[in-house]
Amino acid sequence: MYLVESFLSIQGEGKYAGYPSLFARFGGCNLSCRGFGCEFISPYDGSKLIGCDSLYAVNEKHFKNEWERFDDAQKLFAKVTSHLQNTDYLPHLVITGGEPLIHYKNPVFYGFLELAVGRGFSVFFETNATVDVDFDAFTLYKKVGFAMSVKLANSSEKYEKRVNKKAIQNIASQAKEAFFKFVLDEKTLDNAKNQIEEITKGIDIPIFCMPLGATHAELEKNSRAVTLFCLKNGYNYSDRIHIRLWGDKRGV
Ligand code: SF4
Repeated sequence: MYLVESFLSIQGEGKYAGYPSLFARFGGCNLSCRGFGCEFISPYDGSKLIGCDSLYAVNEKHFKNEWERFDDAQKLFAKVTSHLQNTDYLPHLVITGGEPLIHYKNPVFYGFLELAVGRGFSVFFETNATVDVDFDAFTLYKKVGFAMSVKLANSSEKYEKRVNKKAIQNIASQAKEAFFKFVLDEKTLDNAKNQIEEITKGIDIPIFCMPLGATHAELEKNSRAVTLFCLKNGYNYSDRIHIRLWGDKRGV
């Protein structure tokens, strides 16, 4: 297992925005979402890379040297919870990536989850909901929450790759809690409602829409249009507090 970063902050978006949260970001993703247009310089060869705001947790070839490898669940748990040395409460534990569920069967990853649930953490996965989790074989996933950020056409990924209806249904019906979180931008709002309706049809869980943007200025450009879109269509608006506070800085 590769841990990209871990830190204590507030949850910036979705149903639990503002909640104190301990983040554990794992490396690797099954999508590449170039449509989000964030630019990075590769630490591997200095080339310009384009992708999502978490590209440093997605692109193995260019960023893996910055990831920390763990072969032991206890050591991984100790590393992540080391950020709580000066706190006397349990924040939410947010497991993110990349796409963390590509590792859902990994013994180190599952052992880490076991330790977290055993310690009493409220655990939430941030997922693109494309991985069909076997909840019967890996029952701990029934005890945690899922923020399903299913990707829309503005991610530039093909529909067949970014939408897995069976995986979404499975998470919505079997997990302790689940909600949708869609990333929208001003330019592509016209057909966003149709896309959201098609993905969420028959699934009765909360839907949040949030503005695309890895910087304060980009967020500002999209947030008003996304708010109006939510008001028109009855969706919940979620801001992205961490970007308002810290921009594209990592580990906050
Ligand atoms: S699924 Fe998420 S982490 Fe993976 S490339 Fe797309 S936006 Fe980035």
